[in-house]
Amino acid sequence: MVIFATYKKIGKVIKLHDKYFKPFISAQEIDVAITKMASKISEELGDEIPVFIGVLNGSFMVVSDFVKKYDKPCEVTFVKLASYEGVSSTEEIQRLVGLNQDVSGRTVVILEDIIDTGNTLEEIYDIFSEKGVKDLKIATLFYKPEAYNKDLKIHYIGIEIPDKFIVGYGLDYDGLGRNLPEIYQIKNTQRMTNIVLFGKPGAGKGTQAEFLKTKYNLIHISTGDVFRFNMKNDTELGKLAKSYIEKGQLVPDEVTINMLQAEVEKNRDANGFIFDGFPRTTAQAKALDVFLEDKEMDIAATIALEANDDTLIERLLERGKTSGRADDQDAAKIRIRFDEYNEKTSPLIDFYTAQNKFHSVNGIGTIDDITSRLSAVIDAL
Ligand code: AMP
Repeated sequence: MVIFATYKKIGKVIKLHDKYFKPFISAQEIDVAITKMASKISEELGDEIPVFIGVLNGSFMVVSDFVKKYDKPCEVTFVKLASYEGVSSTEEIQRLVGLNQDVSGRTVVILEDIIDTGNTLEEIYDIFSEKGVKDLKIATLFYKPEAYNKDLKIHYIGIEIPDKFIVGYGLDYDGLGRNLPEIYQIKNTQRMTNIVLFGKPGAGKGTQAEFLKTKYNLIHISTGDVFRFNMKNDTELGKLAKSYIEKGQLVPDEVTINMLQAEVEKNRDANGFIFDGFPRTTAQAKALDVFLEDKEMDIAATIALEANDDTLIERLLERGKTSGRADDQDAAKIRIRFDEYNEKTSPLIDFYTAQNKFHSVNGIGTIDDITSRLSAVIDAL
């Protein structure tokens, strides 16, 4: 087998060496910026025939696209100055190589792919101050105002960007990424641990989530709890959910999905989430995947707590004596919830197995024992 690609596409996120990058600036946006820059420079230089100088390696794409859009005679050449090593700007900058053309008396436009600290720019100003050029102009496709710490004039800026490491469109991370037609931004977000606790009603998801959330510093989202909170407070959502919950049926997907998303949004800085009681249908699971991918998150594992129906019914009826939950007090309603589970939720076992994310632990035993079993799965992730 021959593998040609050195970077891997993971959804919309790409991996170069050890780092992940997410799409940031599209090829179209770059095209618009370069078109505008070329027409502005053309307009300002009038009949002057400029020497466009690209600073390699990063500028090869921008120079190529720029000069194609430059509508008047011009000269094009490249010089080399290296300023990057890995992801941080290094202080040491190599000297210029490759300028073997007399630029004295000429209008020179330096075409840069990116200006961040301005170290390279300083070097360019230094070098060209001795070349007797008539006029020196600096044009850059990308500019990082937060990183720039020099007092040197930049005449043309394509796009201002935040101080984040980017790759693509000529820019590399340790040699990779230059060929990408669009710009990607480094993903600094730590990988979250998002766990789905899975199982029939009474399996102990809520009880275990309480322990796990402390142990792993996760946010526990129980859709059942959110519904009950809304019912207690007689909100619109509560009123809507009530009729379904009281019958032991599932609340419609759309309502539940929107609610779940709102709960995740409320906790943007979380280390991760424990989803308890969600997803309960394939539509919910698919929606969750799409939603999480959009947020650069994913499910680390779905862990099922297994127990037989008789044990579960016993537990639920026992809980019903104190929980006040009407759906726990009636064996017939409990059966309906089990039916709902068998029909709508159990297909998720295959769904998550296909993603290699399904784990199952014995849900019978002491609370501590079960927490240990769950922890063993999470620790091994
Ligand atoms: P629970 O506390 O998880 O047993 O949930 C109690 C009830 O809330 C369920 O029987 C459903 O009626 C409703 N519910 C909770 N989560 C969901 C969900 N993901 N989808 C649909 N209905 C849900």
